[in-house]
Amino acid sequence: MKILIVGGGGREHALAWKCAQSPRVHQVFVAPGNAGTALEPKVRNVAIAADDIDALLAFATREDAGLTIVGPEGPLVAGIVDRFAAAGRACFGPSRASARLEGSKAFTKDFLRRHRIPTASYATFDKDTFDPAHIRAQRLPVVIKADGLAAGKGVVICETHESAIETATAMLGGSFGSAGQTIVIEEFLSGEEVSFIVIASDQSVLPLATSQDHKRRDDGDRGPNTGGMGAYSPAPIVTPALHARIMREVIEPTLRGLRADGNPYQGFLYAGLMIAPDGTPNVIEFNCRLGDPETQPILMRLQSDLVDLCEAALAGTLDRTQAQWDPRAALGVVMAAGGYPDAYRQGDPISGLDAAARLAGKVFHAGSRAEGAQIVTAGGRVLCAVGLGASVAAAQTQAYQLVHAIHWNSVQYRHDIGYRAIERERGSSGVSSGGGDAGP
Ligand code: AMP
Repeated sequence: MKILIVGGGGREHALAWKCAQSPRVHQVFVAPGNAGTALEPKVRNVAIAADDIDALLAFATREDAGLTIVGPEGPLVAGIVDRFAAAGRACFGPSRASARLEGSKAFTKDFLRRHRIPTASYATFDKDTFDPAHIRAQRLPVVIKADGLAAGKGVVICETHESAIETATAMLGGSFGSAGQTIVIEEFLSGEEVSFIVIASDQSVLPLATSQDHKRRDDGDRGPNTGGMGAYSPAPIVTPALHARIMREVIEPTLRGLRADGNPYQGFLYAGLMIAPDGTPNVIEFNCRLGDPETQPILMRLQSDLVDLCEAALAGTLDRTQAQWDPRAALGVVMAAGGYPDAYRQGDPISGLDAAARLAGKVFHAGSRAEGAQIVTAGGRVLCAVGLGASVAAAQTQAYQLVHAIHWNSVQYRHDIGYRAIERERGSSGVSSGGGDAGP
C-alpha cells in the first residue's frame, strides 16, 4: 500500500519514518517533506505544498494512496479531510467542523464552558464590544489571545493592565491579521503543562504515550515562547490517577460534546493541559493534530504499526485495538537556527549528520534542505535529536550525544530538556544520573 503524509516538519519526518516501517507499506510520499524524509528508505518527497488541497487530492488519486495522514493544522482547518472523503479517499484527521477546536479559541472556550470541561475563565471581544475596563478588572498577569490560527504566536501573557490593553488593541487593529478580529481575554493559570494526545474515532479513543514539551526558548523555561524546543515521553507527572482523571474530565466529555454538537471527531486530538496544584486538568488549548516536537519521542516509543492504528480508527474498531509501547523513555532536543523564534538565519551548511547517524537514537529533520550533497538549514526549528533510555535521564544523555555530533554556524538549543522529569525521577528513586547537557 502507498501512504501520503502531508507536511514537511519534524512531526512529518517521524510519521513518514514510522509508516515506512509497516510491512504493509511499500511507498510513503511526503508532501512537501524535507532533506531528512528524502533520505528515508521507502520514502519519497513530492513537491506539493501542505495547503494545496486540490493538488494533494489529485496526487493521492493518481497514486492510489491507501491512506493520507495530515500533519499540520492548516489543511485540516481548511477542510482537507472533507474533500478527500467526498472523493472516497481515506484521510486521517478531523473534519473541518471538528478542526474548529484548534481553528477558533473563542469557539473552543464556549464549547468547554457548555460541556463543563475545566478551563480558565474568559471573555470574548471584537472591535465593537472591546472594553478596556474589563481588562482593568482582571487579576495580573492576564492572558490575551487572538481567536484564529496565528502560528503559535497569538497568545500574550501580560504583566500590567496597560500592556494588556495595548496588546488587545493591537490585535483588534490587525496585528495578527484576521486571526485577531476576535480576541479572548483569559485568566492566567499556574501549574505544570502536559500534552495529552489520543487517537479518537467518535466515542472510542486510544491514548498515546504521555509527553511533555518545553515551549520557551532558553534554559530554565525562560525567554520567548516557541513552537517547542524539546519534548519527552513518558511524562512522569501523569500518574495513573491523573491519566484516569484527564480521560474522565477532559477527553471523554470532549468527544461526547462534539458528537452531541453534530461533529463526531476522528483523528489525533491533542489537549494542552495546565495541571493545577490541586490536580485539576485545565484545558489551555486543543490541537486537531499531533504536536511537534512531542510526536518525535512518542513515535520512537511506539512499537505497534501506526498504519494499523489509523485504519482501525477509520474503520471504527479502535476500541478493540491496543498500542504497544517501548518501556524506555524517549527525549528529543530541538536544534534551531540562530535568531529563532524571531527572524532566523537560513542556508547554513549542517555538519556531522553522518557521524550522528552512526550513534544510537535518531535525528529527525524539520527546516532542512539539500543543496547538492550538502544539507543546509531552511527553517527555524531545523532538527530534533531523539534519544532512548531506561530513564528520562538516560534518554537525555543519548539525545545530547547526537546534538554534540552535529554543528552549523549559529545553531542554538536548550541544554536542559527534560529537567523537570529528571528531578521527579531522582525524587522517586534516589538515582542521580544525567541532569543536563554536560557539553560535548
Ligand atoms: P496556546 O497557543 O493556547 O497553547 O498558548 C501558548 C502557551 O501560552 C501555552 O502553552 C501556555 O504556556 C501559555 N498559556 C496559554 N493560556 C494560558 C493561561 N490561561 N494561563 C497560563 N498560561 C497560558
